[in-house]
Parts: sequence; C-alpha cells; structure tokens
Amino acid sequence: MNAVTIGTRVIPGTTCPYCGVGCGVQVRQEHQAVAVSGDPQHPANHGRLCSKGAALGETLDLEGRLLEPMVDGQAVDWAHALDRVASRFGEVIAAHGPDAVAFYVSGQLLTEDYYVANKLMKGFIGSGNIDTNSRLCMSTAVAAHKRAFGADAVPGCYEDLELADLVVIVGSNTAWAHPVLYQRLVAAKQARPGMRVVVIDPRRTATCDIADLHLGLRPGSDAFLFNGLLDFLRREDALDWGYLEASAEGFSAALSTACESAGSIPQVAAACGLDEASVLAFYRWFARTARTVTVFSQGINQSSSGVDKANAIINVHLATGRIGKPGACPFSITGQPNAMGGREVGGLANQLAAHMDFEDPAAVERVQRFWQAPGMAGGPGLKAIDLFEAIHAGKVKAVWIMATNPVVSLPNADRVAEALARCDFVVVSDCMRDTDTTRYAHVLLPAATWGEKEGTVTNSERRISRQRAFLPPPGHARPDWWIISQVAARMGFAAAFDYRQPVEIFREHARLSSLENRGDRAFDIGALADIDSDAYDALQPVQWPVSMATGQGTARLYADGRFYTASGRARLVAVNPRYPHYALDDAYPLALNTGRIRDQWHTMTRSAKTPRLTAHLDEPFVQIHPVDAAACRLATGDIARISSRWGAMLARVTVTEEQRPGGVFAPMHWNAQFASAGRVDAVVNPATDPVSGQPELKHTPARVQRLATQWQAFALSREPLAGLGAEYWCRIRGQRHWRHEMAGCQPPGDWAAWARSLLGAEGEWLIFEDEAQGRFRAACIREGQVSGALFVTTQGALPERGWLAALMRQEVLEEADRVHLLAGRPARGVVESGPAVCACFNVGLNTLLSAIESDGLDSVEAIGQALKAGTNCGSCVPELRKLIERRNGPVAA
Ligand code: SF4
Repeated sequence: MNAVTIGTRVIPGTTCPYCGVGCGVQVRQEHQAVAVSGDPQHPANHGRLCSKGAALGETLDLEGRLLEPMVDGQAVDWAHALDRVASRFGEVIAAHGPDAVAFYVSGQLLTEDYYVANKLMKGFIGSGNIDTNSRLCMSTAVAAHKRAFGADAVPGCYEDLELADLVVIVGSNTAWAHPVLYQRLVAAKQARPGMRVVVIDPRRTATCDIADLHLGLRPGSDAFLFNGLLDFLRREDALDWGYLEASAEGFSAALSTACESAGSIPQVAAACGLDEASVLAFYRWFARTARTVTVFSQGINQSSSGVDKANAIINVHLATGRIGKPGACPFSITGQPNAMGGREVGGLANQLAAHMDFEDPAAVERVQRFWQAPGMAGGPGLKAIDLFEAIHAGKVKAVWIMATNPVVSLPNADRVAEALARCDFVVVSDCMRDTDTTRYAHVLLPAATWGEKEGTVTNSERRISRQRAFLPPPGHARPDWWIISQVAARMGFAAAFDYRQPVEIFREHARLSSLENRGDRAFDIGALADIDSDAYDALQPVQWPVSMATGQGTARLYADGRFYTASGRARLVAVNPRYPHYALDDAYPLALNTGRIRDQWHTMTRSAKTPRLTAHLDEPFVQIHPVDAAACRLATGDIARISSRWGAMLARVTVTEEQRPGGVFAPMHWNAQFASAGRVDAVVNPATDPVSGQPELKHTPARVQRLATQWQAFALSREPLAGLGAEYWCRIRGQRHWRHEMAGCQPPGDWAAWARSLLGAEGEWLIFEDEAQGRFRAACIREGQVSGALFVTTQGALPERGWLAALMRQEVLEEADRVHLLAGRPARGVVESGPAVCACFNVGLNTLLSAIESDGLDSVEAIGQALKAGTNCGSCVPELRKLIERRNGPVAA
C-alpha cells in the first residue's frame, strides 16, 4: 500500500474521482494545502495524472458546498429532512404504487452507495425505477457485451493497448477524455515505433496526434465500416475458422448481413464518406495484424444504433479470434469513475444486482432471498429518458436525484427542467448547493464528496480500487450510503439497512456476487466476501473476477474460448447498419456532435473551481468547418446561436478544418452558473438506442446562426457578477478575480453608468471613451488595488486578458501599470502569455509562439526544455506539435 503522511496521520492512496481510467492518487499536506500526485504503484497510471487529476488538491475548498439539509429552502436538521423524504415517498407509494417513485443516480457514486440505493429501490420499495447517468455513457456497451458474451464483462486490460501492434480507436478522443490511458499508448508507440494507431472519428481530434491513419468518417456510419471489414476478412482469408468453430455462433448470419449491407470497398467508402485508399489501408492492417485492440467509447455508445455498432466491432474480433489474448481484444472504455461499479450492483434500471437479470426468474428469487426483500421489483424500471418523460407526464410523482445534474447533462434538457418543475416531490443529494438541478429540489441533502468518504470504484479494465477519506466531511455532510440507509430505516426497513460502515456493504455485495455462482456469472468477487475492516482499508487494486477460483484477480477474460451464453460460445450479431435517427434537412442542415474538453469534467461543479483548469478553454464554443462557416457567415470569435427542434444555446465560434464539413461540435460542460446559455444538451435530441436506451448525444440536426451582437465586452471583478444585461455571457474563475465575457444585441446606453452598476460605485474610477472608435474602458481602484475593470468595443477587438488579470492579483497597483491600465496592455517589450496551453506549468499560447519563433524551437522536446510545457501530464503535447507545425511544417509524433 502506498501511504503518505498528513500531519501525524498516515493516509493510504486513493483514486481519482473523474474519468474511467481510475488513476491511483497520493495525497499529502504541504503547509496548509493538500497536494496530490500520481500513485507510482497503482497499476492503472503508474504515477501519472492528467491535468484534471493533478489539480484535485485545488478543488477541496468549501465554496459553494451544501453543508446542511434543506427543506423548502430552509435549513433543517437531518432528522427533519430524512423524515420528510421517507414520509413523502411512503405517501406516494401508498397512493400510487411503487412505480410512482424513482431514483436517478450516478457513476460518481461509490459502489457501496450504489449498492444500497439499488437494494432499497428494487428490493424494498419494489420498483425497477432506479437508473443512472451511466445510461448516457456506457449502457450501449453493456448491451453489446451481453449480446456477444452473455455477460457485461470487458475482455481485456490497459496493458493490451501497450502490447498491441495495431490499436484502432473508434469514437473516442482518448487524448482528452482518458488522458492517462492515452499517455500509456503514446509511450508504448514511442518504445515500439512499428505499432500502428488508427483513429476513426468524424473530427480530427488531439488523439490523431499519434495516428498513422485517421478515418474522418460520416457521422453514424461506423457499422458500415465494420460490416465491410468482416466481409473483407472473409475475402482475404483472414478469418480464424478454428476459433469460429469452437467458440462462436451466429457467424453465417452476421457475415451474410454484413455482405448485403456493406458491399464492395467503393460502396463502403461511399457509405462512410471516406476515400477508398484509406478504407483499404485500414482493412489490410486489420487483416494482417494478429495483435489488434479496438478501443471504443462514446462515439459508438451515444447513438441510436450504438449497440449494433458495438457488436459490429466485436464481430470482427470474434471472427479473427482476437479476444482474451495479450494485445488482442475489443475494449470499451467508460466515461465515469465508477460506471463499472454501477453496472456491478445493478444501477441500471434493466439490471438486477451482481450482474443478474430480471429475465431470469431464478435470479430474481435468489436476490430476493438474499436480501430477504419484502417487495421485490417484478421487472425492469424506466431508463433515463423514459424516466424523465414519466416525471413530465406526472406518472412518476417523486424522484430522488443523487450526485448528478440532469438539467445540464440529459438530452432535451429544457424538458428535463420542465419535468422537475412539475414534479410533486424532488429530492437532490449533492455536495454542491447551487446547480441547475438543485434549483428544483424540495429537499436538499448534503453529501460527502471525494476525499471525505470511503468506498470502492471500478475502472474500465474491471479494476476495483479504494477511494479513501483524508478529510472529515464538512458541516453536516454525510456519505450517500448513510443517507439512503437512514431513509430506508424510516420507511420501515431498518434491519436490512443497518450498516455502520462501508466495509459491511462491500462484504454483502461480494457475498451476493458469489451466491450460487458456479462459474456461470462473470462478476464474482467472492474471495472478498469475508474481508475485515483492516483488509478493506488496505485493499489493493484488483481486477474482477476475484473468486475463490481466480484468487488474485483476472487481467483477461475468455482466454479459454468459453463465454457466459447458454451454449458457452460467443455470439456474432447480424448488424443492419442505420444512420442516426433524425436526418439532416434544409431547416437543420448541420450534425451537432457533443463531447468533453481536456480540462473540464462533466457539468463543471468541481473542475471549474480551479483557474488552472479554466484557463485552457474558457468559454462555451462551437467548432465549425470553414466551408460551413462561410455559408453561415461566421468567423472565429463571433457568438453563434446553435438551435435544433428541441432547444438552443449560445457559444463562441471557432472555425477549424479539424471539424468535418456538415457537422459542428460543442462541449458538454457549461451550465447556468458559468454561462447564459451554454447547456449544449438543451439542443440535443432525445432519440435513444432501442436496445440500450442510450441517447444519441453525438448527432442532432441543428443550424448555426450568427448572433447579431452590437457590442462585446469583458469585465474583471473580485466577485461573480449578476444582472449582466447581456444576451451572451460566460463566467470564468481566475486567481483572486472573476472574468466575465459578454456580448449584446443592444448597448446599455450609458456605458459609465453600466460599469458602476456592475462593479460598484465606490472607489476611484479611471474612464476612457472613444465613440468614434467604439471603445469604452473603465477601471475602479480601491485601497490601492484594481477592484474591477470593464472593457467594451462596438466595432473592434478587445485587449488580451492576461496582463489585466495579473493586475487583479497585485496587492498594490504600481504606478507604471496604472499608466497603461486603460490601454489594456503592458509597456512595450512585455509579451502577454495568452490563453493557457499547458495547464500544469501555466504556459500560454503567446509565450509558446514567441519562443518557437525567436528561439527556433522545432520539437516538443525542445519546448519542454525551454519552457517545461508538455513535460508533466503530456495532455498538451498534441497542441504543442500543432503550434510547431504552424511555423515549421510537420513534426514527427
Ligand atoms: Fe483522473 Fe482520468 Fe485524469 Fe486519471 S486520466 S487523473 S482518472 S481524469
């Protein structure tokens, strides 16, 4: 165990709470601050952290935390709040039945929290109505695994990416969404330059930095490509007939459907919008490379035909016998830190618990008997999209939302807000006081968060790791498992929820996994069923199954060619490819794609707390190809309205050839606290995959129009500003200040009066106005410091923000700076660092461009030596390479 010392206490390592890579984290106290670093002994990251993980220590302050229970906006004690939740849920159930209530939970919960929530809903309330935000992230992979393998069990491990000779990355910007796993791949490719990487994605993302081939295919056409590959493998005699004979079924139907739907290479290329040579190159590499791993993620999963796409990928691996072997497997990588743990306990509405299914009456009986459950759910509950529709329709009358923010993250998000506004009773457990979702809560329950609670999470390679507490929960915050158990007790189920610590829940979970499991269920952690508190505290990362038979865990599954289907054979699935559910048309001619950016996490409630992470991409943006930008009369820096049949958002335009013509991309993160209209999911359509229920977040017919702004501005202030009076604004946290970027369609009239109304009238005001040039600039000095500044333009550009932001950090404004303050730039010769590229060492764009130009830096290594940029987490390396290429031409990856 990796232990470090905080004060006089020894703190074991913990796990990052962000993405599904599941990196091990060491925590130490440096002076008054908590600092984190990568755990060199954790098998997922071997000491690395990405920019988000490295900044975790900066997100632990109590600003914005929900610290006490609240009922109808009033702070109350726990007993009052818990009584209210239990009694209202009880009343609704008594009047309308168990299906009139629901839980909507999260891949942010620890496995122990998840287990208790699922047990309460499915075993004691008696409804299947518990679904999770993991529905949006990997329910498609779950369904595809079950169709192919008979179990939701990921075949491989991270090491397989390093051992492969060909890594195919489909629908994943791994470099930004799973950065440490990507860095492991980068290192492996550097060590073995013969390794090939193919990236299949409509966008040319940072992940393409190491790609030998990028297939920028038509959105949604992946199944055509993989069906064509299956047919090609047959034609090239590259199938593993022995494996198909011994370990698979369904091949003939899958192949004939693939042949009919895909056709020749020219037909595949046409269906996918690719050139024939690229398709052929990919097919040949795949056919000739035994050690091939195909990584797939949200570009496959978040689709109205995602399960078929995932099975088309799995088909080519089964047909070549490339599964269960070192360096060979299809590999779904999950988005959230504990999406996998949720799958294990039955956090999805259509699962039971411990990977058992409602379809199996013996499994339902087994779980009921184990739990001694009085009112077992008879079948699956409502999946996320249907659940919120049922709330909207008044069929579900009470909902408890835990650790998630559906008003930002669910598609058709305005309708989700409408549903919650109509709902009789909304409970939200969260660590944050003010989110887009907590605004609709009748009862708010303060939850403990990362660093304050104990439990386990499971990463994308089935590795269970401990999250450990190193801080006491602040105020009245409590762990989720405790909150749920207290409500259960008040609903009359005290005996079944008499947990005093998470290890008791973990033991129960482990016992259920091995109950009457004779090797017929993949998920089995029975070897941990008797774990005591000390062993739980010391638990080392381990990959399930961890059964009596497997002992120390299992890196790869299916190595023996046996699967969890009735026949013991894997199933190839006949896939009829389909394009996205809603087609483009004249009114909505562009395909809106959504996704993550490098330095933010989900709906920003934690990651936007640190200036280091907001400095990289600080505004909601929309990326558009130059051809489409010209057609829409858009230029970089404009504010655009992106609208669909479901809703609209506003975002800053970036024109880039990295975006495929015919499509636009906008990030998923911005919420109502940080932007006036930055919620992309307000635009996104609610179509879902018919098998998995996962929404089509990657394709919404949309149009993009320039917002007819008359002015643009930015304000610097000590506190967040309210009542901005601008159609567009976004709020950015800086060090010791806030910045607001604004744009409006009507000028406020009197700029000076507006400045004072925003920043406060007190203090000495410096004001400059040039009506002819359309400029207004004002700054307020209080007690020798710049307390606020406002820069407005009606026709030109605004100054860069970096130097002015630095003035906000000064204790005393120096006279030399005061002279230049309203010019907005320092004395000649000082270079503005510009927007941050390297978050670890805060190296800005202008600094990099200047050094590349003046010092002749011609490699990423040279930049690292000169400026340190790119030498820590490595997440910015693709951007560094692009900057060099901008001046010097192509640089070797
Ligand atoms: Fe955390 Fe994922 Fe980054 Fe690892 S890669 S540090 S788990 S966000």
